[in-house]
Amino acid sequence: MEFDFDDPSLKAALALHEGQERQGPGSRATTELLLDLAAPLPERPRVLDLGSGTGAATLVLARIEGARVTAVDVYTPFLEQLRAAAETEGVADRVDVRHGSMADLDDLPDGSFDLIWSEGAAYNIGFGAALASWRRLLSPEGVLVVTECGWITDEPSAEARAYWDAAYPLRSTGENVDQATAAGYTVTATYLLPASDWVETYYAPLDRRAEQTDPDDPHAAAAAEDLRREYRLYREHGHEYGYVGYVLRPR
Ligand code: SAH
Repeated sequence: MEFDFDDPSLKAALALHEGQERQGPGSRATTELLLDLAAPLPERPRVLDLGSGTGAATLVLARIEGARVTAVDVYTPFLEQLRAAAETEGVADRVDVRHGSMADLDDLPDGSFDLIWSEGAAYNIGFGAALASWRRLLSPEGVLVVTECGWITDEPSAEARAYWDAAYPLRSTGENVDQATAAGYTVTATYLLPASDWVETYYAPLDRRAEQTDPDDPHAAAAAEDLRREYRLYREHGHEYGYVGYVLRPR
């Protein structure tokens, strides 16, 4: 999927996420745990954070000793927030921002990153396609860490299935492992994100923000309503799907 920034509904959906700490399910604890699972890393790792949003993960990765992180996103206001946060946290000299698509990295040389990271963003270009296209960027000792939403039950309810089939058809963890293997990786760990990563750090603050949208702006109101619908589905059916972190090494 490529973004059409002239689409007012898309703009309203993205604007709802401005000023938030995260733009998808996750938490600092989960980012740190996945980073532990990705060890050992080459020294002074060159890191690429794809679909960085406002940089929740970028800022953790920037603290790896000797790291240099490139954060990539298509939405400029998120990158501006990320740049400001990197200044505040004193890591601006270790973080480069790149405005552009994670599907358009052709100018970056093969093997130029030791750690590629992507939380809650690969779905934008499709999990399997993302994994296949990023593989050449990894150094031989490199690691890819990616989170992806999928079914965690064999028998999803009709309601959850209808929602996700229309939004983004989900696969099981096993099917995602198969896609990663087919894309040329060995899966060294998987980790199911806890429910608190959906609610406390994502939906609850977003829901509070949605309360403040201008009711006279139909696009903002529709974006807020979509969010409420998604959150409601999660409250009722969140035990049927979940975000899973995958730690992948090139084979
Ligand atoms: N990783 C962040 C943001 C996740 S939300 C976090 O976990 O908080 C998904 C992000 O992907 C958004 O910031 C969105 O702007 C970005 N995005 C969507 N399509 C993209 C693309 N094709 N290339 C790069 N970034 C993209």
